[in-house]
Amino acid sequence: MTTFWQRYYRARPWALRALVVAVLALLVLWPFIIDFYSYNARYYVGDVVGFAMITAILTISLNLCMGYGGLLSLMHTGLQLAGGYAVAAMAVRLGLSPWWGLVVAIVVGAVLAAATLLVSLRATYLYFALITLAANLLIMEVGRSSEWLGSDIGISNIPLPSVFGRDLSRASLADVSIFYWIVLGTLVLVWILQRNLVRSGVGRAAMAVRESPETAAALGIAPVRTKALLFAIAGGVAGLAGALYAMQKGFINPAVGALDNGLIFFVGLLIGGIATLEGPILGVAAVAAIDFVIRDYGPYRVLILGAVLLLTLLLVPRGIVGSWRGSRWGRPVLDDSGEAVRSSAVPDVVPRLEAAPGTVALAGIGLRKYFGGVKAVDGVDLEVLAGTVHGIIGPNGSGKSTTVSCLTGFLRLDGGRVEVFSRPAPTSAQAISRAGVTRVFQVPHLFEQVSVLDNVLTGMRSRERASWVESVLRLPRHRSEDRTHREEALELLAFAGLASRAQWPADALSHGQKRLLEVVRAVATRPRVLILDEPATGLTQDELAGLRALVTALRERGLAVVLIEHNVEFVMGLCERITVLDSGRVIAEGTPAEVRDDPAVLEAYLGAEPEGAS
Ligand code: ADP
Ligand code: MG
Repeated sequence: MTTFWQRYYRARPWALRALVVAVLALLVLWPFIIDFYSYNARYYVGDVVGFAMITAILTISLNLCMGYGGLLSLMHTGLQLAGGYAVAAMAVRLGLSPWWGLVVAIVVGAVLAAATLLVSLRATYLYFALITLAANLLIMEVGRSSEWLGSDIGISNIPLPSVFGRDLSRASLADVSIFYWIVLGTLVLVWILQRNLVRSGVGRAAMAVRESPETAAALGIAPVRTKALLFAIAGGVAGLAGALYAMQKGFINPAVGALDNGLIFFVGLLIGGIATLEGPILGVAAVAAIDFVIRDYGPYRVLILGAVLLLTLLLVPRGIVGSWRGSRWGRPVLDDSGEAVRSSAVPDVVPRLEAAPGTVALAGIGLRKYFGGVKAVDGVDLEVLAGTVHGIIGPNGSGKSTTVSCLTGFLRLDGGRVEVFSRPAPTSAQAISRAGVTRVFQVPHLFEQVSVLDNVLTGMRSRERASWVESVLRLPRHRSEDRTHREEALELLAFAGLASRAQWPADALSHGQKRLLEVVRAVATRPRVLILDEPATGLTQDELAGLRALVTALRERGLAVVLIEHNVEFVMGLCERITVLDSGRVIAEGTPAEVRDDPAVLEAYLGAEPEGAS
């Protein structure tokens, strides 16, 4: 079912663009328009619209860390203050060009943000917010106690920058307009930075870490590095906004860092729609308009903004953009026309691994893991050969998943060791993934709000070579890498019969398709060893066939596949060797035929659970 608007925009994709261009043109021409209507044009250009645009830059920064990275920052007013100090110190104290101030402000903002993140490494969501709050107070306190920064009074007479040798003066509309255009240009650049970043590997990695640090690590993404990078970039943008703020106002003082000055960013972001590209702009436009209307009711400003926020959260809980996208009119059309046919060609994405027959790809030696009194894994030995499928079976609670977590660095071992291709395995989960051992969890770990294609691309993150700067600037290396990775991802999806749904959000898939997608995403990391924890649960016959084809293809390419499965028929048909666990111990090991006839296995597992043989 498509609505009128969906058909309208699909037929006229330029309609939205035309609107954006019109608004941009209006903003560019604003000084001329308002000069025609008002004697007070300087105020409307700089203090009203220009100031709102600076607020929008800061809100984009907040959107980057809080929306896309899940890092609730209460230090954005502090970063703004620091950026303001940077430009004030450079221009007023040192007599250098305010342009240098802008550069220093970006650096100061980035460094402060990165430092704050690094001292709060293990902090959870709210705890992290508290640490940023402390950092905010600290920045204000430093300003207050520093005479060089003007103590409580701060620094005034901050000049506007000079442009082509012309010193801009606040008294002239032309000069104020030039600064206004500089701010507008910066806003456009920062918005593009946000868009390019979010659509690049850095953005996908940040969203992965936000959704589940565990899944991110399983895909070889380093959670700390990702968060630090994102927060530093957001900090740099906030510092830049602070510098523009100080130039716009002409002064900076510690009170600028007060938390209630940040209300407007949060209200703007939540009204516009958090974790959307357009949200910060629309939201700040709305809040700035409200702020303008209530400008004569100063003492009630916070009260009114608070009420607006409350009302927004009640009426449009996901903001203007988020609620629009979730509504009947704005919901993206899920194109179901393409049939879910599986392409039969084995994707070249899976490289052929040349390993001598009998090479041990993954070995667990004497693995032990106790949870209090529960001996979940109690001396398990396991050798997985390259180019084979190795089954692990056993009753529920026999320690299969725990064994996998021990092999992949998700649990600290109580004993034993792990080797990858005869080398000691690294200790962190993400390093093991990078060493070529990728696991798929027993419980679904998809990024549900992200598209099917982006889920697969996230799996390729650890293979990306282009740096974040190259991605943001869309330099050739990023572009060619991005193109190849998208082609590869589509090829993999086609092999799993999911290509026609590449643009769907992952949570719109059926259960079985989600399981397949998770396997595809893991394959996208280019593992040498792939561990699948009960991937066949809840799959239809057709999906089972797809999974079987994928696993067979991987084996043919020389990978080692570890398959944990309850579906005995499925396991027996696929595996070269099977290890049987019971109560955390290996009770049998051998070919499917050997295992099937083993009396201990019959007693512990097959005999006890005949329904598993469905
Ligand atoms: P399987 O995957 O074979 O069904 P698991 O490896 O999940 O079994 O669990 C093995 C045993 O360890 C079970 O008794 C389970 O209750 C226990 N266990 C697993 N994870 C934890 C944990 N994080 N904390 C405490 N006990 C656990
Ligand atoms: Mg399990």
